[in-house]
Amino acid sequence: MARYIGPKCRKCRRYGASLCGSAKCAIIRRPNPPGPRPLRRRKISDRGQQLIEKQKVRFAYGIMETQFQRYYKRAAARPGVTGNNLMQILEERLDNVVFRAGFGRTRAQARQLVNHGLIAVDGKKLSIPSARVKLGQEISLTERGARSEYGKILVEEIRSRDVPGWLEIDRAALKARVATVPGPGDWDSIFNPNAVVEYYSR
Ligand code: ZN
Repeated sequence: MARYIGPKCRKCRRYGASLCGSAKCAIIRRPNPPGPRPLRRRKISDRGQQLIEKQKVRFAYGIMETQFQRYYKRAAARPGVTGNNLMQILEERLDNVVFRAGFGRTRAQARQLVNHGLIAVDGKKLSIPSARVKLGQEISLTERGARSEYGKILVEEIRSRDVPGWLEIDRAALKARVATVPGPGDWDSIFNPNAVVEYYSR
């Protein structure tokens, strides 16, 4: 499936927020936008700001526009606050759950682990990054994943990684279970889901 490839932190610097998910995001050392310094600061319209907020979420989760629009429509069709529904749909993606569980340093790396068949859901290999991980389901490494070089270093690395409250982690067994549905407060505060909804709903 197509996705944005290229210097990740260019987007982080463009949007002034760490979207790559990496603790070593370039924005820490280079907080200014990429490219030449603008001669004058332009005022951003409401519409422009909504676009920026939409792109921030879309790039952070690594979703192409068409797919992102499908998620928006699904979120709007559900009861409740559309912005929260949208973020919940994004958080429940397998690649994101793998990232949130600390199995990958970034969402991009987590997606690779899934694509390469190193991740199982409820004990069965699942190599579809967009698959939804439902309440009560458990992610782990496949047998191949556990035997891989990455599986071996992950046992050590995962100790220092934070896990959100909606996931229940067993660091020794390298397993994470969806204990509750991700809700407001479980996604990064750099996102403004309501602005994303305003962008699509006009
Ligand atoms: Zn970055």
